[in-house]
Amino acid sequence: MRCLLCQNFSFTVICNSCQKLFLQPYQTIRVLHDGFKVYSFYRYGDIAVLLKTKHTHIGAAVYRILAKNAMQAFKERFDFDVAVDIIPVDDIPKSGYAHTAILANVLASKYLQPYYGSLRAQNDVSYSAKTLHYRQTNPRDFMYSGKRNENVILVDDIITTGTTINEAKNEILKCGAKPLFAVTLADAREL
Ligand SMILES: [Zn+2]
Repeated sequence: MRCLLCQNFSFTVICNSCQKLFLQPYQTIRVLHDGFKVYSFYRYGDIAVLLKTKHTHIGAAVYRILAKNAMQAFKERFDFDVAVDIIPVDDIPKSGYAHTAILANVLASKYLQPYYGSLRAQNDVSYSAKTLHYRQTNPRDFMYSGKRNENVILVDDIITTGTTINEAKNEILKCGAKPLFAVTLADAREL
């Protein structure tokens, strides 16, 4: 196959040279209004062309490569003596896979245990290109079925306004678990 970025022959959808050149993580922290932190590894514009493969047949491979480049070093820095649950946001499979489940899977380690299908939106509204007002008045209505009394890290692919992460975090809090922070691949905030 050909590398998506340089078109050279490659055994992976993004060749190793392009991964080294273009996918070095650039970690940023967004602090939501209540102090909740969201760590991101890329600027949305830098990897938009890759994120748009989300619902295509190569999307799963692209997301796995992005997650490995972004999150490997991040997860190796964890040295908790208690387990932490990794909760992918709304990991409903579309086109054969759930992109947030792929991210959670890459984050898994001795300390970080993914729980799939435990945070699902009951309202399948699309926020793509919608205003903050629309997002706030059309909540996703998340339902958390994960463990109570656990430390939780939320995982999503993109943070835009922060509405989704905020709503997901509040649902987890309401259910008696403890959201520590969130990680997303990309921050789409305008700089
Ligand atoms: Zn390449």
